[in-house]
Amino acid sequence: MQKDEEEMAVLSVDGLRKSYGSFLALDGVAFEMYVGQFVALLGPNGAGKSTLLQLLTGLFAPDAGTIRILGLNIRTHLTEGLAKLGVVFQQPTLDLELTVEANLRYHADLHGLPRSLARKRIEELLKRFDLIDRRHDRARTLSGGNRRRVELARSLLHEPSLLLMDEATVGLDPASRKDILNRILQMRKDGKLGVLWTTHLVDEVEEADRVIVLNRGRVLFQGTPAELRREGQAETIAEAFLKLTGYSQAVLSVPGS
Ligand code: ADP
Ligand code: MG
Repeated sequence: MQKDEEEMAVLSVDGLRKSYGSFLALDGVAFEMYVGQFVALLGPNGAGKSTLLQLLTGLFAPDAGTIRILGLNIRTHLTEGLAKLGVVFQQPTLDLELTVEANLRYHADLHGLPRSLARKRIEELLKRFDLIDRRHDRARTLSGGNRRRVELARSLLHEPSLLLMDEATVGLDPASRKDILNRILQMRKDGKLGVLWTTHLVDEVEEADRVIVLNRGRVLFQGTPAELRREGQAETIAEAFLKLTGYSQAVLSVPGS
């Protein structure tokens, strides 16, 4: 690959391996993604999705392999790499006793944003996510869907190039699920952000630019949703996914669960 093309990859992962004791959770994972792309990482529970995201956020180090964020190897440039990263973890991480605005301000301080710039961005993001009326309310008083929207707004405060979302819609009602997914899909129009969206729900990958199927720590497939259907000689993503993984229908949880 040409150097300038390589520099455009917002995330580049190669030969990633991670064990918990003798259990191999990630076994040679490799992929690339680009700014403006919505990439769905699809895998059943236990596939290794959260482990991958924990490695990408530098929470712990891989046993082998490299991770580059905008060309920065996070082994040697962790701080610079993390500055480009927005994250919504699988487990909620808001301080429920703080107001919506205070949760965002705290995050802005962590990223060293000047107070006046932070104020402006917080206001913009709260408006954009239809939360401006809730700014002085404690996070505890918000619904699950609204809490996720606050986490999403927070993850964008420092204007990251890469947004990682780990099972962001789990536990939400169908309307809130759709709302979160649609907001993320719209963001790719800006062309400034790459989104890595992990999910075990096949219906969330239909509109992805690319799908990566992860199973038992291995990438079984990467390509467009149409290519995934073709590869599985299937009419639907669900059918292709089941054929590729060899799982039965039961692994596909009911949306909203
Ligand atoms: P996913 O997010 O796709 O559900 P995880 O990355 O959470 O998958 O887990 C992948 C596998 O690694 C699972 O079998 C899980 O039980 C195991 N695992 C995850 N975290 C740990 C840990 N801290 N210690 C031991 N095993 C773990
Ligand atoms: Mg997980």
